[in-house]
Amino acid sequence: MRKIAIIGGGQAGLLLAFSLLENKYDVTLYVDRPADELLHGRMVSTTMFFANTLEFERKLGLNFWDGKAHHGQAIHVDFRGPDGSIALPLTGFLHENKGIAMDQRTKYQRWLEEYPRRGGKLVLQNVSPEDLEQIAAENDLTILAAGKGNITSLFKRNESRSVHQTPPRKLAAALVVGDDLCGPQSWQGQPSQTLHFNFVAGAGEYFSMPFYSHTHGPCRSFLFECVPNGPMDIFDDVSNGEEMMQRMKEAVAKVTPDQSFRMADNMELSDPNAWLKGAFRPEVRDPVATLANGAKIWGIGDTVIVNDPIAGQGANNATRMVEHYLQAILAHGDQAFSADWMQNVFEQFWNESGRYTTDFTNLLLNPPSESLLQVLGAASQNQVIADDFMGHFNNPRGFWPAVDGEAGAKEYLSRKEFQHAAA
Ligand SMILES: Cc1cc2nc3c(=O)[nH]c(=O)nc-3n(C[C@H](O)[C@H](O)[C@H](O)COP(=O)(O)OP(=O)(O)OC[C@H]3O[C@@H](n4cnc5c(N)ncnc54)[C@H](O)[C@@H]3O)c2cc1C
Repeated sequence: MRKIAIIGGGQAGLLLAFSLLENKYDVTLYVDRPADELLHGRMVSTTMFFANTLEFERKLGLNFWDGKAHHGQAIHVDFRGPDGSIALPLTGFLHENKGIAMDQRTKYQRWLEEYPRRGGKLVLQNVSPEDLEQIAAENDLTILAAGKGNITSLFKRNESRSVHQTPPRKLAAALVVGDDLCGPQSWQGQPSQTLHFNFVAGAGEYFSMPFYSHTHGPCRSFLFECVPNGPMDIFDDVSNGEEMMQRMKEAVAKVTPDQSFRMADNMELSDPNAWLKGAFRPEVRDPVATLANGAKIWGIGDTVIVNDPIAGQGANNATRMVEHYLQAILAHGDQAFSADWMQNVFEQFWNESGRYTTDFTNLLLNPPSESLLQVLGAASQNQVIADDFMGHFNNPRGFWPAVDGEAGAKEYLSRKEFQHAAA
């Protein structure tokens, strides 16, 4: 039986561990925190999991929230000028691409409980680079899935694939409950269960979604993506949940003055730990790291491709990567897991999927080009285009050719089905 070690019990590490276990590999998963500590700790993200990710989890029997957590049915975006006025409103329905936005604390805790029940070996250890040498010596393959943990610095930044020198946004987020905030009609004027996005020129973006967390069940997430030194960059000195709520209300009123935000009057944090703030520099790293003793280890998920959350892709990208790595491992049979093999498997993933996710994310961080505005303008007038466009959040490769400059936008808009729908 081939021995595989995975370090990090997040979206990438857990899903790969369950998948390999199902395929009869001898898998050891190293986690730095016990499940309960994770559950009662600080919120880590406001993550939307799209349809393909949920399907992969369902196939592994890890879909414990089906029927409990509501699906986000549509995405509504208001593109706004610097004064907050709406220049372009757009709603796309997600249909078969819909997903669930839920608390990663809830998810990881339940999966961590499940893993040993299925026979998986779980080791509680904050793994150091020195530990990795020992682990790599004991296993046929060692995979680092440590997210944004410090240990990921073992993997070198790939300069040609990394466009950011500094964090492009400062992040502030919270989960809230309150009348009018949760449930089917939870945002003024929007169809039920809509993910509500605001892009405000010069200020950044804020996203609010129907959400699920273990503390309250249905709740609502807010994520503010603040352009550094812009008008929404007001969260730096926030030091507790109450201050976060106050600043969130200020930010909403400042950049989207038409949102009376009456529903904010009675809003509360879903639990005292349901808020976060911070900033990180997105980057792409080389997928193979060499340890001090010469051993080679492989990276997956945020460890090697970490993007800003603006496009809601980190966990979805990690899942696509797990699917890709799993197939490659299975196809490799009993052959040695060489550095060349690891590099090639990653390159294939990058070319087929990862680079589209990264490019699309980076594109959203910049003001929309003329050609993209043409596509978005057409989508605001034509529901078929709007639904098609929004559906590609499920797999960003599909945004091409629409986002690929003037020629790509033209090619996309000339599609037969759009012309037919418009006729
Ligand atoms: C505010 C915010 C909003 C987001 N929204 C979305 C979204 O809408 N959609 C989406 O797809 N993604 C979103 N993301 C990104 C998503 O959360 C991550 O990309 C995803 O969780 C990455 O999975 P991972 O397994 O690589 O890392 P993680 O999920 O971070 O898991 C890594 C694990 O490794 C552990 N670890 C670290 N170091 C060590 C060590 N030395 N030893 C042992 N264990 C270790 C960590 O504690 C952690 O449990 C968002 C992120 C943020 C911050």
